Amino acid sequence: MTRFRLAVLGGDGIGPEVVAEAVRVLRAIESTTDHRFELTEDLVGGAAIDAHGTALRRETVALARRSDAVIFGAVGGPKWDDPRAAVRPEQAILGLRAALGTFANLRPARMQPALVHLSPLKAEIVQGADVLFIRELVAGTYFARPKKYWQDARGTWRAVDTTAYTEPQVERTVRMAFELARGRRKKVHVADKQNVMATSRLWRDVASRLAADYADVEFQAILTDALAMHLLYRPSAFDVIVTDNLFGDLITDEAAVLAGSMGLMPSASLGSARNRHGGYRGLYEPIHGTAPDIAGKGVANPMAAIQSLALLLRYSLRLEREARAVERAVDDAIELGLRTPDIARPGERTATTTAVGEAVVEAVLRELRS
Ligand code: NAD
Repeated sequence: MTRFRLAVLGGDGIGPEVVAEAVRVLRAIESTTDHRFELTEDLVGGAAIDAHGTALRRETVALARRSDAVIFGAVGGPKWDDPRAAVRPEQAILGLRAALGTFANLRPARMQPALVHLSPLKAEIVQGADVLFIRELVAGTYFARPKKYWQDARGTWRAVDTTAYTEPQVERTVRMAFELARGRRKKVHVADKQNVMATSRLWRDVASRLAADYADVEFQAILTDALAMHLLYRPSAFDVIVTDNLFGDLITDEAAVLAGSMGLMPSASLGSARNRHGGYRGLYEPIHGTAPDIAGKGVANPMAAIQSLALLLRYSLRLEREARAVERAVDDAIELGLRTPDIARPGERTATTTAVGEAVVEAVLRELRS
């Protein structure tokens, strides 16, 4: 019997609603395997501000650090939206990422076969698309100095952003891409602008050097502008795409189109640190927010949270069989027509958050027992 320790941080709005369904799936896995999950819940974001005056307590950081991984919902909402407030819900995410030393953000974009109609792209183009985007998260254009906006002595307004990377920052991110590609279709693209940017030449040099360590993985460099175009023409040509913070920010939003709906896209933030099971220590969360417009109505789509759980099983707990079972169960539930309003066809009967969770639970049990 293997015991895993997980922190469960639902957050605000629909966060706790969708995380509850991911937890139900976890309990189903427990009921049919000899894995045991010790779950500890805590408040984060607005809920923690209301209860404790801070978005992320020290105790919560300690909990995250001693856990094998963290399941996170979403934080924020109109009640805490004042940009001038010293205490803000999103400090919970930034604080947890810093505490866990995560530097890479993973976003898989997988087109669910039964949801091709949601994509603005033609069915024959998106069919079969399954891409893992890895974005460097803690350096590059958003963080490097100087970064300023000022008026010079002649009265002309000027602004400067700096893009800076070191070899170790690039290497740890690209290495992760090669490592993760080994568990997939063994293909890595590094996206850069090496024709015009020095940092991009560093990315390309480091990636080309590392490629020699991973002879079993096919490696190719691509200009990010060309990638933006190819992703819309032939997304199924890509497996793992790794890129810097700025390009990653842009490209992963484009990628959301490939998955069809915000309610479907999971994410993971990982660092180099490993847990007691040899997996990555990480934070797993849907990419969507707290959806205040539908919170409490029981109609939030739990699929992104459930697919984030699949990533957690794969990358932190190293339970590949269970991860695949969850992903297949999500496909099955959608194919059976269990759909929340955000992904339903016009006129189709819709399902509640819990009905979708229940359908995934049943499908997971079928998968794991077969
Ligand atoms: P949002 O993602 O919460 O919602 C955008 C739209 O998508 C809404 O119409 C919502 O109903 C819908 N939607 C989102 N998730 C859904 C789901 N699982 N099922 C069905 N429909 C879903 O983005 P927003 O409205 O810009 O932000 C709302 C709040 O969430 C803000 O306070 C924002 O700061 C916060 N936020 C938090 C995170 C996070 O915690 N990582 C990320 C984004 C936004």
